[in-house]
Amino acid sequence: MSQANIIRQKAHLYRHDTAQYLSEMVKIPSVSCQEKGVVQKIKELLELAGVKDVWIDRLGNCIARVGRGSKILAIDAHIDTVDTGDLSAWDFPPFSGSIHSDVVHGRGTVDQEGGAASMITAARILTELAYDGEYSVYFTFTVMEEDCDGLCWEYLINKEKLVPDIAVITEPTNLGIYRGHRGRMEMELIFKGLSAHGSAPERGKNVIYSAARIALEIEKLNDVLPSDSFLGKGTIAATLLHTKAPSLCAIPDMAHMHIDRRLTWGENKESALAELQKICKDDVKIDIPVYDNPSYKGTVYPLEKYFPTWKIPEDHPLVKVGEKTYEHLFQEKPRIDKWTFSTNGVSLCGRHGIPCIGFGPGNEIYAHAPNEKIPIEHLEKAAAFYTLLAYEL
Ligand SMILES: [Zn+2]
Repeated sequence: MSQANIIRQKAHLYRHDTAQYLSEMVKIPSVSCQEKGVVQKIKELLELAGVKDVWIDRLGNCIARVGRGSKILAIDAHIDTVDTGDLSAWDFPPFSGSIHSDVVHGRGTVDQEGGAASMITAARILTELAYDGEYSVYFTFTVMEEDCDGLCWEYLINKEKLVPDIAVITEPTNLGIYRGHRGRMEMELIFKGLSAHGSAPERGKNVIYSAARIALEIEKLNDVLPSDSFLGKGTIAATLLHTKAPSLCAIPDMAHMHIDRRLTWGENKESALAELQKICKDDVKIDIPVYDNPSYKGTVYPLEKYFPTWKIPEDHPLVKVGEKTYEHLFQEKPRIDKWTFSTNGVSLCGRHGIPCIGFGPGNEIYAHAPNEKIPIEHLEKAAAFYTLLAYEL
C-alpha cells in the first residue's frame, strides 16, 4: 500500500478522535492571554495520543516534536480564540463543543482549534509510523494570535531559538493551499489643541475639527492606495476617535485617532508612515502602538503593532510539495489562494523570511462569527495532509 493510502486510512480511523479533541478544546474558553486551560488540555491529549516529546515554553505555547531530522518543519495553530460576541446571535451555546451530523460546533472550531485538533492526529500518526525523515516536525500550539499576530513566533524564534526552515499555518483555508496575505499595522494620531470656554470657541483650537479634516483626507487616501494582482489592495481606515475637553461646555484640546492599515505587496511601515505624515503635517504626532499584555504565564514580550506583508511565489518548492501532497491524498488539484485576514505568517515569513504555506480545515466565513462550525471531513483531510507532507518534503 502507498504511504498516502496508509496515512489516509489512519486519518479516517481516527476521525472521531480528532473531532473529540476539538470538542474538548472548544469546551474550555480560551481568549488571548487566558489560554492556560486549553494549553494544558492539548498537552494531555498529545501525551494520551502517544506523542513523547511535548512541553510548554515560558510564554505558554505548547510544542510537540516528532522526528529527529536536521531540518525543522513547523506546523502551527494558534489556540486562542476571540470572544463570543452577542450570545443571542448563536443558535447553540458557543462552548458546547457538540458533535452532530458530522459537524463540530462552537467558538474556535474554525479559527482555529480545528487545525490544532488535526495536528494532534498528525503527530499521533507520525509517531505510530515512527517517522524518521529529514525533518524534525514541530507541532506548535501557540498563544495570543488574536491579540497580536506573530508575537508567539517572535518569542519562539528570538527567545526559544526555534527557527524553522519551513512552516505550515493551519488557519482555515477550506482545504486550499494559501501562499500569502496582506500585512497590517496600527497607528495612533495624537492631536493637541487649545481649550477655551465653549461660549467663546474662537479663543481655542478645537481638535475635533482638526481630526475631522484629517479623517476626510484619510478617506481619500484609501482610494488611491496601491494594489497587487494576488494580494489585493492596501487599505486605510480610521477606527476610533477619542477626544478630551475640560468639560462638555469647553473646547476639546486632546484627541486620539486609531488607524487600521492593511499593507499590500511593496508597502511597509516606512511607506505607510510617510504617507500619513504628508497628510498630517507637523501638528499631529503619529505613533505605532506597542502590544505588551502579559501572557497567561505572566511573560511580557513587547511588540510594535506592525505585521509585515508576505507571499511566496506560486512555483515555490513548498507550494509545489503542498500540491503534490494534496494530489497524492485526494486525486485532484488543490485550490491555490490567499487569506483575507492576517496570521502568524507575518512573523514567520513577513519578518524572518521563512517560507510558509497555509492549509487548514474550515471555512473562514465562520471565523469570528456566531454559529461557528466545522465538518469532521475537513479535520480528517487536514490530519492526513500534515502527516504526508513530512514524507513528501
Ligand atoms: Zn485565526
